[in-house]
Amino acid sequence: MTRISKPTPCPCGGNHYAQCCGRFIDQGDIPQTAEQLMRSRYTAYTLHNEDYVKSTWHASTRPAEAVAQDEDTKWLGLEVRKHVPAGDAATVEFVARYKIGGRAHRLHETSRFVREEGRWYYVDGSFFTTK
Ligand SMILES: [Zn+2]
Repeated sequence: MTRISKPTPCPCGGNHYAQCCGRFIDQGDIPQTAEQLMRSRYTAYTLHNEDYVKSTWHASTRPAEAVAQDEDTKWLGLEVRKHVPAGDAATVEFVARYKIGGRAHRLHETSRFVREEGRWYYVDGSFFTTK
């Protein structure tokens, strides 16, 4: 896991890591929207912060194996396309770009989130195979 201490752009595209996803990942603030949670989870992936990725994953779908530890995956950027809140559920459509061994890939997903006792959790996602 990588630590960021200096003021620095947020991997999710925000201006300042500490005021963007760092609030949630390092300072324990609770994301108020599914989009904030989704962005902070993307950033946690870029930092290989397995604990954060797992703790924000709903217990019903949380995988047992490590998911954010792959140092070969270089995350390049995030674009949130759509955020559809509906009470204690929400969907977020996004495109994340990454490289593995010099090859560029795109992950285009609509993620589902639920809110329980004031906290948002990632449930699962539908993938697009479009280029
Ligand atoms: Zn961020």
